[in-house]
Amino acid sequence: IYSLAIVLPGILMGIMAYQGIINDQARRDQESRNSLTGIADDYFYALDSMLVSDLNSLKNDTPYQDSYPDYLRLAFVHTSNPDIKLLHHNLIFIPDSVESSFSDKENDELLDFLTKIRKYKRLNQYRKALETWQTIEKKFANHLISSKTPVILVAQLEQIKILAQLNDDPETQQAISRIYHTLLHPPLPYEASQFRFFMNELASKNQEDNLALDSVRLLVQNKAEETYFLIRMISEKDPVFLQAKQDPAWPGIYKGLLNRGSLLSIYLAIDRPDNSRIGCIIDIIPFILARSNIIMDKLDPEGSLSWKITDDTDEIICSGITSEENEYSDFNFAENYPNLILEIKENQLSFFSQLKSKGQGLFILIFVFIAGLMIIGLAFTIYTLNHELKLNRLKSDFISNVSHELKSPLTSIRHLTDLLHTNRVKTEGQKKKYYATMLDQTEHLSYLIDNILDFSRLEDHRKKFRFQDVDYAVLLNKWIAGFTQRLHQNGIELTIDIPENLPTTMIDPDAIQQVIQNLMDNAIKYSGKGKKIEIKVRKDATVLITSIRDQGLGISKTDQDRIFDRFYRCEESQEMGIKGSGIGLTIVQRVVAAHRGNIDLLSAPGKGSTFTITIPIKQTNNDEKDTAG
Ligand code: ADP
Repeated sequence: IYSLAIVLPGILMGIMAYQGIINDQARRDQESRNSLTGIADDYFYALDSMLVSDLNSLKNDTPYQDSYPDYLRLAFVHTSNPDIKLLHHNLIFIPDSVESSFSDKENDELLDFLTKIRKYKRLNQYRKALETWQTIEKKFANHLISSKTPVILVAQLEQIKILAQLNDDPETQQAISRIYHTLLHPPLPYEASQFRFFMNELASKNQEDNLALDSVRLLVQNKAEETYFLIRMISEKDPVFLQAKQDPAWPGIYKGLLNRGSLLSIYLAIDRPDNSRIGCIIDIIPFILARSNIIMDKLDPEGSLSWKITDDTDEIICSGITSEENEYSDFNFAENYPNLILEIKENQLSFFSQLKSKGQGLFILIFVFIAGLMIIGLAFTIYTLNHELKLNRLKSDFISNVSHELKSPLTSIRHLTDLLHTNRVKTEGQKKKYYATMLDQTEHLSYLIDNILDFSRLEDHRKKFRFQDVDYAVLLNKWIAGFTQRLHQNGIELTIDIPENLPTTMIDPDAIQQVIQNLMDNAIKYSGKGKKIEIKVRKDATVLITSIRDQGLGISKTDQDRIFDRFYRCEESQEMGIKGSGIGLTIVQRVVAAHRGNIDLLSAPGKGSTFTITIPIKQTNNDEKDTAG
C-alpha cells in the first residue's frame, strides 16, 4: 500500500519535477543569454554614444578647454594648409611653429637671478649657483625663454652640469631622473626642436649601469616616438584619416582604429558646419577604463551581473564584480575598437531568491513535498516493520510458552496412568488419590485449552456471549472451590468475603468463570512467598465489584501499562520460570469489556497485586437479548 500510494506517485512526480527543472533551466539559460546579449549591445552602444557626446563641444568650435577628458590625446583643426591649430593635446611636445597659447614676457626677476649665478660662478661658489638654479626651477616652471625654451628644463640641465663639476654622482643621477620626469610630464607645451635639444644634451650625460635611469629614458623615448608619429600625421597636408571616405559612424563623424606600436587609439574625424574637419585621437584603453563602470552601473543598477573586459591575452583590462567561475558569456567589441572581449554573467541567486523566482520555485516546492512524503513513508514503513517483527517474536514466544504449559499436566497424567496401568499402585487409598490428581490435571488441561480457544475466538470476533440471570455468589463459590487443592499444595490461605442477598446478575457465566479462573491462576502463580489471597465482592448501586488480592511479586508501573497486551509477559516472571502464555489478562479485559464493565489494577513490586473487576448487574444493551439463553 505504501509503495502504491506514496513511492510510485513520488517517483512519477520526482521524474516530472526533474524534467520540469531541466526544461526550466534550459529556458532560463536561453533567457539569460538573450538578456546578456541585450546588455552587451546596450554597453557597446552607450560606449559609442559617450565617445560622441564627450567630444560634442569640439564640434561646436568651443575654444580650448581644460576640462577635456584625459583620454583625448589630441584634438586639432586645419585652418589653412599646412597650418594646424591644436584645440587640445596631451602630447609631451608640440609641432614646431605651431601657434602656442603660451606667451612669455621677459622677466626682470629672472634676469636678476641669471646675473647672480654668473657672479657665483666667477667666484667658484658652485653650491650657491646650484641653489639659485633650484629657486629658478620652482619659480619659473611655467615660463618659456624667447617663446621657445622652457625655463624649468634649462634650470634642471644647468644643475646637472654643476653637479657633474662637483663630482657628486648620486645627486647628478637624481637630477637626470628629474629632468626625464619633466620631459614626460611637461608643465607647459613647447616645441619638438626644444625636446630634441634637451635629449641630445642628456645623451652625453648618461651614466653607466643605472637601471632606473635606463628605464625612465626608455619611457621618454617611446613616448617621443609616439608623439613624432602623431605630429607627422597631423602635419600632413591631408592627414590620412581626414580623407575618410567610408560611411560615417554617426552623422558627420568618421571613425577608425589607430594601432601603431604602443599607441592604441581611435581616431575620429568630425565635420564642422564651416566644412572644416576636426581630428581627434582618443586613447582607447583609458577611455574604456573611465567609462565602463559608469555605463555598467546604469545598465545593471542592482549589481546582479559580474563583468570584465579582457584583451586577447586574457589579461583583465577592467572589471565590475567578478567571480572565479568560467560561465561568462563573451562578446567581441565592435570593429574600430581594439581586439577586446566583454565578458558578462548573471550572479548566482541565493537559495531563497531562487525559491522566490517563479518557475523554479514551484518545482523546488514539489521536490520538497515529495521528499517530505518519502520521509513520512519511510518512517511509517520502519514503524510497521518494527511492530510486525515484535509481534512475530511475541507469537513464537507464545507457541513455545503454550507448549511448555500444556506439557506439564500431560506429563503428570501420563506418569500416573502408567503407574496405574502396570499395577504398581498397591493401596486403594493411593489409587484414589492418583485418580483425583489425574482429574485435577485434566481439568487444568482443558482450562488451558479453553483459554487458547477463547482467545482465538475473541481475536477473530467470533466469540458469542450468552448472557443469563444468575446467582453470582453461588457460581463464584463453585469456581473458587476448583482451586482448593492447588491452594492447599502451595500452602496459600484464601479468605472469601461475599455479602448475602446479592441480586441475580446478568452475565455470561462461562466467560466470567474464565475471568475468575485466570485471575485466581495468576494470583497463585505469582504469589511467591506471599501466602494469602483475598476475594471480596461488593454491590455498589447498579454494579458488582469483585476484587482478587494477592501478596505476591507485584507488578512495576511500566509493566502495568502492558500486561493486558496480548502475549505480553513480565520479564521477572519469565526469569523465575513461572509458566504462562501471556493471553490470560487479554481474555479477562475483553470479556469484562463485553460485559460493559471495567478492570482496575493496584500493584507495587514486592507488595502484591489487586485486580478489581466491575460488572453491571443488569445488561441494558441489545446484545443481551440477541445472545441471551
Ligand atoms: P501469563 O500466562 O503469563 O500469566 P497473563 O496475561 O495472565 O499471562 O499475565 C501477563 C503477565 O502479567 C504475567 O506474565 C505476569 O508477569 C503478570 N501478572 C499477571 N498477574 C500477576 C499477579 N497477580 N502478580 C504479579 N504479576 C502478574
